[in-house]
Amino acid sequence: MSFKHAYLAEVMENVIQRNPAEPEFHQAVREVLESLEPVIDKHPEYVEAGIIDRIVEPERQIMFRVPWVDDHGKVQVNRGFRIQFNSAIGPYKGGLRFHPSVYAGIIKFLGFEQIFKNSLTGLPIGGGKGGSDFDPKGKSDGEVMRFCQSFMTELQRHIGADTDVPAGDIGVGGREIGFMYGQYKRLRNEYTGVLTGKGLTYGGSLVRTEATGYGLCYFTEEMLNAVGKSFKDSTVVISGSGNVAIYATEKVHQLGGKVVALSDSSGYIYDAEGIKLDTVKQIKEVERKRIKEYVKYHPNAEYYEGCDGIWSIKCDIALPSATQNELDENDAKMLAANGCIAVAEGANMPSTPEAVEVLLNKGVLFGPAKAANAGGVATSALEMSQNSMRYGWTFEEVDAKLKDIMVNIYKSASEAAEEYGCEGNFVMGANIAGFKKVAETMLAQGIV
Ligand code: NDP
Repeated sequence: MSFKHAYLAEVMENVIQRNPAEPEFHQAVREVLESLEPVIDKHPEYVEAGIIDRIVEPERQIMFRVPWVDDHGKVQVNRGFRIQFNSAIGPYKGGLRFHPSVYAGIIKFLGFEQIFKNSLTGLPIGGGKGGSDFDPKGKSDGEVMRFCQSFMTELQRHIGADTDVPAGDIGVGGREIGFMYGQYKRLRNEYTGVLTGKGLTYGGSLVRTEATGYGLCYFTEEMLNAVGKSFKDSTVVISGSGNVAIYATEKVHQLGGKVVALSDSSGYIYDAEGIKLDTVKQIKEVERKRIKEYVKYHPNAEYYEGCDGIWSIKCDIALPSATQNELDENDAKMLAANGCIAVAEGANMPSTPEAVEVLLNKGVLFGPAKAANAGGVATSALEMSQNSMRYGWTFEEVDAKLKDIMVNIYKSASEAAEEYGCEGNFVMGANIAGFKKVAETMLAQGIV
């Protein structure tokens, strides 16, 4: 799509020139700028104050060497990143991703999206993201620990409970957060809520582990209820089998739906009787093995090599929860042709722009990541509150707050869409609602 406003086209062109060879970042910026066309018609003051020129440029970008020694005594060197994108409405907040595909463009796209997602939660958190091209897969616990300690040895000087509070993402779960927290505490001699997703014995919040997957389902249920539908008796396909996918599956089952497929980067499983989640948790969370192991325990289930085919499975609801750009135009066409009524993004930017267009044009309800997967970061903010109070809420209390937040995100996105003349388009609605709070704050805080 080309821009109606020459100003937005110019901002986009600058982003491409200043950040060459970072297609994921360009894609994330373009989507937001496209949504802002009607906003700048109504608010020329945002343009005059250079809000959009400023919001696409990170406040600070940190890139560093992470040396560590593997189990064979060989020195390994990885690259670490922390991008502190926007602190208008609160301390930088966003996860750390450990995956071989990580480079500046991936962290920038994630950090940029995080600004608007965090704003949508209604909580006081700015946007940031970080990570490394380190691959935890196949590494021993000792190797992962040595890497995490080296990573934190540099990162610690840039973060803090009131400055920047990282969390997990792909490849960073409870084990990695524990190793990094231990090293932070040792170097700084302080016991603060500098990371979220911590273990329950050292300041973690109940429901944080489940939050992104549960929140995804709360948001989707709200979107479905608005058109008289729900998860009850629905057939659901979820990609991935990590943190988000596992707890989305758990909540779908609690809400009366049936998840029939899950995947990892090698392939996918199909179980027509419904995925047995205990088996998946044992394989992925305890044994850290591949999803294909599932068919050894449940011979009636099928395993297919490669991820592509998962969207050809007939379903009512699809929740892509693995990685960026995993659902393309053809997948979207297949889903719609098979009668899928809703797609909601558990992963960040899992649908290509072409796929989103197809889904919206075909009238499939579409919940974009910024809104649909914001439950994780929202619960991280609740973890920060509990750490500041030196107090902990019960599972039911945190879960109720999470649900409330997801319902409010749905309301904000849907009201903004309506106000700006694109009713039912939650991509526009989420971008606009998330942007406006940050833009108003940047106006109030002057040119900084
Ligand atoms: P995990 O590391 O726990 O799981 C990731 C899952 O996705 C694994 O099954 C993994 O398979 C699969 N996957 C990763 N990369 C690829 C790839 N290139 N191709 C195919 N499959 C892939 O991560 P999370 O569940 O935490 O994160 C999943 C998505 O959700 C990410 O986009 C993340 O940014 C997003 N998200 C996560 C939040 C959280 O709280 N954890 C919050 C908000 C968004 P394999 O094991 O084979 O690599």
